[in-house]
Amino acid sequence: MLPEPRRVEDGALVTHTPAWRPWLNIDRVIADNAGPFTGPGTNTWILDDGLGSVVLIDPGPIDDRHARKVMERVGRRELEAVLVTHTHSDHAPLANPLAREMGVPAVGHASGPGFEPDIRLLDGARLDVGTIALEVVHTPGHSDDHLCFRAGSVLFTGDHIMGGSSVMVESMGPYLASLRKLRGTGLERLHPGHGDEMEHPDDVIDWYVAHRMQRHEQIYQAIAKGAETATDIVHAVYTDVDPALHPLASRSVAAHLTLLVDEDRIALDAGRYVTAPLPR
Ligand SMILES: [Zn+2]
Repeated sequence: MLPEPRRVEDGALVTHTPAWRPWLNIDRVIADNAGPFTGPGTNTWILDDGLGSVVLIDPGPIDDRHARKVMERVGRRELEAVLVTHTHSDHAPLANPLAREMGVPAVGHASGPGFEPDIRLLDGARLDVGTIALEVVHTPGHSDDHLCFRAGSVLFTGDHIMGGSSVMVESMGPYLASLRKLRGTGLERLHPGHGDEMEHPDDVIDWYVAHRMQRHEQIYQAIAKGAETATDIVHAVYTDVDPALHPLASRSVAAHLTLLVDEDRIALDAGRYVTAPLPR
């Protein structure tokens, strides 16, 4: 089972006192976009160094009420930047307008639909927000442009790891590598793009890797038993998933199929998937 996230209500000020940096305050405003793909809504995280410097992570979709709420919450503190974990429509579109309004840079890995970064960040970059040192971790997989932001032992995971559910994966090989690269690195807490914060990050990562590997095997077995198309496979494998989520599941299936082909375990034969090697 996926470890249960710790529940934090919208607006609760979570003050962490990890030994490495006792003055990182983490607050959030949840966007009003709850749904099957977004859980309780997108988490907009507000990090405060305790001395008045603030940074936002994932302002969310274009939504005036949410924008006002976020700006009110920032209040008179000094906003230094608006960061996005990735350019999906539930995370990034508010970033440019909000950053412009506040006179600060919008920051992300790459441009995407509705987002144009003023500053582009690569893996390993360091961002200083007042006294908070944020490390940028490129974590492609959910999307190629996905970043996580690390403050000491705390990681802001966007949709790389979500609170209480598995995630849609666009590129499976990179996704698994992006999970493994975070494991055993001394993380103590995860703050996802949706859902509640999680403790025991290595256990959570193990669950995600095991879940993906289980799906990988199930998909291979479905093909071995005669499933020929992505749609067949979704129906055969995702029996435990709400059919409303099948379009999302089919994107993850496509990513598994690409990896199975790369692994030479399956092949595409005249539009149908078959287990490899191809009969000659
Ligand atoms: Zn999302």
